[in-house]
Amino acid sequence: MPSHFEVIEEDCIGCGLCSQRAPENFEVPADTRLALVFKQPETFAEEEACLEASDYCPVGGVQVGAVDADSSTGGAQATLIPAGDSTPVNFAS
Ligand code: SF4
Repeated sequence: MPSHFEVIEEDCIGCGLCSQRAPENFEVPADTRLALVFKQPETFAEEEACLEASDYCPVGGVQVGAVDADSSTGGAQATLIPAGDSTPVNFAS
């Protein structure tokens, strides 16, 4: 299963590098100037582009994690790791 990606809104500066690297998954709406993941990657190529987007983000504002579809809570959960930080952060979806 491809990785799960999220943008840390507090860190995003709206530079648009992520949407340039992964236009099938990231966008920066003109009204907010904050990046968002409008579609999680569904293919290996999209996942690679999203990982590249994470690497290119100048503020480490793209979190990458794996989705646990067999969560005991009954819903999918993503364990996300901010760029440059080895401490996992759990988000219930
Ligand atoms: S590359 Fe990072 S800072 Fe730039 S728009 Fe995307 S998430 Fe925001």
